[in-house]
Amino acid sequence: MTKQRLTLEMVQKYLGQEGKKYNGYVVFECPLCKAEGNDQKKHNLVFRENKGGLLKCMRKPNDNHGQKIYEAIMKKERGGNNELL
Ligand SMILES: [Zn+2]
Repeated sequence: MTKQRLTLEMVQKYLGQEGKKYNGYVVFECPLCKAEGNDQKKHNLVFRENKGGLLKCMRKPNDNHGQKIYEAIMKKERGGNNELL
């Protein structure tokens, strides 16, 4: 199964955050770390649109947060169309 590409808009919409833009990446508060009280600086989740829409939580060992959030976003996005379902 090919991985559907994430866009910055999708991430912003899902997280309800604008994110903080740096050169080549955007930083967000990780909602999964937040739920555990582990993202006080609000910068754990990194999104790199120019690397194929890579979403990654920088807090180890929570590296799978990016993948979980990616799947949640895709699930929500798919709600609107029945393509390939
Ligand atoms: Zn996280």
